[in-house]
Amino acid sequence: MSNTSTFKTKPILTVENPGNWPEDFAHENGQYLCRCHDCGENFTGYKRRVTCKVCASKPLTPDQERDALWCQALMSSGLDLETLNTILSRFKELRRK
Ligand SMILES: [Zn+2]
Repeated sequence: MSNTSTFKTKPILTVENPGNWPEDFAHENGQYLCRCHDCGENFTGYKRRVTCKVCASKPLTPDQERDALWCQALMSSGLDLETLNTILSRFKELRRK
């Protein structure tokens, strides 16, 4: 991307990027320039997406898989949002150690 003015008038949508989520593009807020929390690369997709398509399709590590299962269990537990947030932030603290 050598020419920044071209970049502004032609958004990253036109760039071949395997991290993009083309299925989001038709939706409102579906063409946001996002940064992947995993690999740090830019990609285009729905504005709330935090993971590029490349990282989203990577197989989970055993730790990530366990976290995902815990999250799933908590989300379907019927607990109120405040309790969920407390548990999840405590969970994150513990995982950092
Ligand atoms: Zn990524």
